[in-house]
Formats: sequence, structure tokens, C-alpha cells
Amino acid sequence: MTELSGLQIFRYLPAAKKAEHTNCKECGCPTCMAFALKLAKHNIDINKCKYIPDDLKILYEQNSKEPQKTVEINGIKIGGENVLYRHEKTFVNKTAIAILIDLSKPGWKEKYERVKNFEITRVNEHLKIDLIITKNGNLPECITYEDFKKLPLKEIVDEDFAKTANELIEIRKKAVIEKDEKFSYPVYVYFNHTDDINTLCARASFYICKYANMLVFEDFDENLVTALMTLRQNIFTDPQKPLQVESKIYEFNNPDENSLIFMTTNFALTFFAVANELESLPVPSYLIVTPAEGMSVLTAWSAEKFTAKMVANTLKKFDLAGKVKNRKIIIPGLLAHMKDELQEEIKDFEIVIGTVDAFAIGDFVKNLNK
Ligand code: SF4
Repeated sequence: MTELSGLQIFRYLPAAKKAEHTNCKECGCPTCMAFALKLAKHNIDINKCKYIPDDLKILYEQNSKEPQKTVEINGIKIGGENVLYRHEKTFVNKTAIAILIDLSKPGWKEKYERVKNFEITRVNEHLKIDLIITKNGNLPECITYEDFKKLPLKEIVDEDFAKTANELIEIRKKAVIEKDEKFSYPVYVYFNHTDDINTLCARASFYICKYANMLVFEDFDENLVTALMTLRQNIFTDPQKPLQVESKIYEFNNPDENSLIFMTTNFALTFFAVANELESLPVPSYLIVTPAEGMSVLTAWSAEKFTAKMVANTLKKFDLAGKVKNRKIIIPGLLAHMKDELQEEIKDFEIVIGTVDAFAIGDFVKNLNK
């Protein structure tokens, strides 16, 4: 049972039935349709209209229930999911990865150090273990097993793959489709010790996709966690938000004041394509990344997120003119039509048109000074 749309609500209102009170404005809205649209977004109290039939009230209340509760543990949030499939809307909180450390077992200190210091960087995101659970004692910034067990979470101990998978799917369906409160608690899967790391990886990967809110491991394996975090990042990326990198000046191969200067937007895919080429150049370079809400260069230009003024502001913000002697900025070839406009705004530098494709940067640089 998904949320009611404005049109579905409208069907119950006087205007749709051509009944008395049609568009009477008593609710403060100009029409019944306007009221329906507001109600669908939860922007108005349903009782503002005195002419709503009881069956709509019941339906609305049922549909407005939160499918899954959000639980916060040591600063991380799990649960709060509203959909079965990411393309329906988005997933809200990524599957947390927790490691259990038993302080009564030999080698716990070494395990703790490895877990605490584990970090990978992927698409500009620094990924660490989300939670450490301690047994038989406590450590800073960790949660004890006793306190963890008191949280409003549902536990599934992973003993049989099909059973765990079916249970996870069933719980999420009950929560999202039926909004059954008995199934509204976030779910974690507990993995006992195993030497079969490949099977563990396959099972945990499936549970990230469907539908564990947290995975708790007794063992800690850096390779396993790296693989799972990589998968998780892909599953939990919001398809409505383009991946973006930080807007700043990036340096490649130790540039100095005479090095080449390139420019692009903060769309992650463009950035990494260009960055790969610049890294492999035989000469050092800078890459100015402008803020463009994660849009590629042409999209950013057409949405007015890459304008001459914005570029000028970015250069000013990073004080590029004060840092380098080189006075040439190479812009993406796709923005060749902006050359005069950019030149007008950026007086300190000469605008040079670069390549349309990142892979051609190497040849472009070779021919630059010929
Ligand atoms: Fe329509 Fe009810 Fe608003 Fe009147 S009070 S305009 S009937 S929604």
C-alpha cells in the first residue's frame, strides 16, 4: 500500500462527485483539487475539510503510516526505508556494517586496532566500519552487546541462506506494502564465525541488496568489508542525485607555478575520466573543479550551473592568479562556444579550448607547444 496520490484523494472529494460544497474553499484552498494535492504531500490537516468521507480518512491514515522506523545508534541511522525498489523513490539509510569484538578472547586488541583504523576512499567518500559492538567489556565509541540487544531491532541469525533471504524480503514487504507495525523495526543479520569467506561474501552481498538494515560480523576481514562497502555504495546511491566530487583545485604529479591548468565540473564521472588522464600525463597539472551540482559540463551549462561568472568566482575563491604564473586555462572542448564569454569575465587568464573527450588529453598536451 503506497501513499495516496492527489488524484486518488480527489476522487473522494465533493468536486469529483459534483456534490454539495464543491470548491467551497472552507479548507482554505481555492479548490478541492488544490486540497487533494496538498493532502497528498501531508501539507494540510485532513480535518480542514469537513466533507471528507470516513472511508478516505481510514485509507489516508493507513497509507500515511511510517513503513519502517529509523533507529539511531552511536550517530549512525538505520531503517527508515519506504520502498522495495530504489527506482520507486530512493533508499534512505545504507546497510550499516558492524563488527563484534569479544574482549575476553585473545587477540581482541589487534582486531580492535584493525577495525578502528580500517578506511577506504571510493568516489570521494571515506568509508569506515559503522559500528563496533563489544562483548565482555566496553571501549570508547563502541556499544556493548548488552546495550545493542536492547535496541528496537529485529535479529536474524544467518544459518540458512534461503531462510534468511526469504525472511528479509517478507519483513520488508510487510513493512512497506502492508505497513504492518509488527514488521516496522529495522533488521540486522548476525553472522557467526566462518572460514568460508567466499560464501559469506555472497550471502552478505545479497542481504545488502535485499533488505538488511545492518550486518553484524563476528569476524573482521578487510577484503570482505571492502567488497561489501563497494557494493553498498552502488546500491544506496540516490539515482535522483548525480554523484559529485568536491569543488576545489586538484593537483596531479606535484604541479608548480608553471604547470598546466585544466577545468571541469564536479560531476564525478567527468572528474574521474579527466583525473585519470591527468595522472598519466608526463607533465604535472592542476584541475579546477567548479561547483555544478554534480552536472556534466554541457548539462551544467544549459542549466546555468556553469556560467562565466561562476567560473570567475571559483578562480577568485581559490586565488588561482596568486598561486600560479601560468596564465592559460584549458576548458572542456564541449564549452568552446563559451570562450569569448569566459574571456570577458576572466581577465587574468587566457582561455584555451581543450578536448571534447578526456581520452584525447594526452595527444592534446603533446601538441600544445608545437
Ligand atoms: Fe473541497 Fe472540502 Fe476544501 Fe470545500 S473544504 S474546497 S469541499 S476540500
